[in-house]
Amino acid sequence: RKNNPGEPEFYQAVEEVLHSLAPLFNKEPKYQKHKIVERLVEPERQIIFRVAWIDDKGEVQVNRGFRVQYNSAIGPYKGGIRFHPSVYSGIIKFLGFEQILKNSLSGLAIGGAKGGANFDPKGKSDNEIMRFCQAFMTELYRHLGPTIDVPAGDIGVGAREIGYMYGQYKRLTHAHEGVLTGKGLLWGGSLARKEATGYGSVYFADEMLKSRNQGLEGKICTVSGSGNVAIYTIEKLYQLGATPVTVSDSSGMIYHKSGIKLDVLKQVKEKEQARISRYAELCPDAVFTPVSAYPKGRNAVWSVPCQAAFPSATQNELNLEDATELLKNGCICVSEGANMPSTADAVNAFLAAKISYAPAKCSNAGGVSTSLLEMSQNAVMMQWSFDEVDAKLKGIMSGIFDGASRTAKEFGEPHNLVLGGNIAGFRKVADAMIDLGVY
Ligand code: NDP
Repeated sequence: RKNNPGEPEFYQAVEEVLHSLAPLFNKEPKYQKHKIVERLVEPERQIIFRVAWIDDKGEVQVNRGFRVQYNSAIGPYKGGIRFHPSVYSGIIKFLGFEQILKNSLSGLAIGGAKGGANFDPKGKSDNEIMRFCQAFMTELYRHLGPTIDVPAGDIGVGAREIGYMYGQYKRLTHAHEGVLTGKGLLWGGSLARKEATGYGSVYFADEMLKSRNQGLEGKICTVSGSGNVAIYTIEKLYQLGATPVTVSDSSGMIYHKSGIKLDVLKQVKEKEQARISRYAELCPDAVFTPVSAYPKGRNAVWSVPCQAAFPSATQNELNLEDATELLKNGCICVSEGANMPSTADAVNAFLAAKISYAPAKCSNAGGVSTSLLEMSQNAVMMQWSFDEVDAKLKGIMSGIFDGASRTAKEFGEPHNLVLGGNIAGFRKVADAMIDLGVY
């Protein structure tokens, strides 16, 4: 903390992991001997840079860009880019740190990284977005490469932004290579990448429930957010026979008792890029609640009774009171689509209640895993079918569940996937760091 003042999200992520690792250190002293934790929490490299661009009025704007290349012990750096006004080093470091263990857990050869900028895409014209992305990549490109560092999207960075960044990378390097994932299908993208994080979160929930002889079919589900992860969580929930009844954004939430209409949601968010209240204009039987009407300190999404919850918006969007209400209302499954959406005491409440709880590094690893499948297709200059990629994604999610739950059992807490996921992810990276010598 002394070396990293004022980065609460980063401390939160590290503390959770360190707490889980205590039983491993008792069993295997080699990790402490090699000072793995001290090395792991320190990023291999942090790049902070100026992003200067010109807005539509001809005025110069200045933002701050970040890329934290956290750990490359098991493969090239990999992790998304976030454009949001809240971005600062503490957010990028928490996301990068989580990404190391998530990528390791996926069973694939990818290291951990994260990047972004304190840029607010809301209200910007398409030309402004393009100029910002080009300015961002004009600095970042020199730190990337298909076997060095391969960023992807995250909050505020979707196919459009990836396109503008990839175009600038290509112009600067004179190379068409798989240096970003989430690319458009016409220029190197993978089928099923767009859907992968949401689908993966639902596959993971289904695995957890099946291990207890239950399933998602017939379950009422609540989902927060209405971006990439939330939309494809909802799509897969319907495919598995569940009924998602909520969505939200930073302006408020929708409760649609008969089930969120997926075509309307896609129209509002993917085509019109409107605020979520627009959904209630198109579906008058849905109820819109603005953030100003939420109970103080609460997220109203989690007050809606459900059997399974899918937090898919942002960090710390589900606190202890929200968790308590979810449990009181009979929720038996929580699968995190967003990164670190539950506060530490909310996680403890889920673990104490012994429900099926999936921490983000298990349940939202489908996106990065499918990014690796996109890199594989780029390397062999092929494009696989949707079903082929989706089947691989399903297999990867099932493998993550097996790895985390086997490790949880090994350490005496069979359903604790926080413990199992953290230890399984850490062990692989730590062993690789020992093999590679001190650096
Ligand atoms: P999008 O930008 O597509 O959507 C984000 C959604 O979350 C929007 O509905 C947004 O509302 C809402 N949101 C963001 N910040 C806040 C906030 N402070 N309060 C309330 N709502 C908020 O992002 P994604 O769907 O891609 O990402 C969502 C989460 O999933 C993030 O935590 C991300 O790190 C994680 N994730 C994403 C992956 C991917 O493949 N895309 C992979 C793994 C994790 P609004 O538009 O009003 O801001």
